[in-house]
Amino acid sequence: MKDNRVYSVAIDGPAGAGKSTMAKCLARKLGFVYVDTGAIYRTVGYHMNLMGIGPRDKDGVERLLDDVNLKITYGDDGSQHMLLNGFDVTEEIRTPEMSKIASEISAQPAVREFLLDMQRDIARTHNVIMDGRDIGTVVLPQADVKIYLTASARIRAERRMKEQEAKGQKQSFEKVLQEIEARDHQDMTRAIAPLKQAKDAVLLDTSELNLEESVAAMEAIIAQRIPL
Ligand code: C5P
Repeated sequence: MKDNRVYSVAIDGPAGAGKSTMAKCLARKLGFVYVDTGAIYRTVGYHMNLMGIGPRDKDGVERLLDDVNLKITYGDDGSQHMLLNGFDVTEEIRTPEMSKIASEISAQPAVREFLLDMQRDIARTHNVIMDGRDIGTVVLPQADVKIYLTASARIRAERRMKEQEAKGQKQSFEKVLQEIEARDHQDMTRAIAPLKQAKDAVLLDTSELNLEESVAAMEAIIAQRIPL
């Protein structure tokens, strides 16, 4: 880095676009902190589910929010871990059920408000690559680089299916595709902080690119705007 200020890269896009894989990879390469904000929403959803509160139960969720003590820590390899009231729930939040719960709970204004400062605080003190749905539009509107990462729903479903298979979670292609499309719809049509491309974001469609090519394209976009 050629100067002393902190830089932020905002990566938004629909589920399965490869945001976390690519952001993680680039963060390691550039020495930035990687922040997966979806994991934060998943952790809130996990807590509510554990407590028997449904993700659409507005009063129940608001009542229990103050009991949610979240901490983000990083492993030696830079991987992000989520601690919920002292317990590491990094693995537990990665199921299709938690994806759905996170999407539903994240539509609640109280939940988004609760998590806003936490996300901004990290970017205030560190060079970050932060991925999510509203990073460029709401969380870090002044981000130095904004990328809207996407790919066709079928390609995203294929990639997600492979990821899940590697973890021993077997689901049919049609089911994964249907879940992805349902989550896209829910995330794009909610009233607060919907998923959309920020006006000043660069669109990167990786439907025709492999991982290596996608990472290289993303790095080139960042390098045009940040003196690495
Ligand atoms: O990115 P990931 O798939 O883990 O996110 C889970 C859910 O959390 C998303 O479907 C979305 O509804 C919500 N989310 C959000 N805003 C973010 C990140 C995730 O609403 N910045």
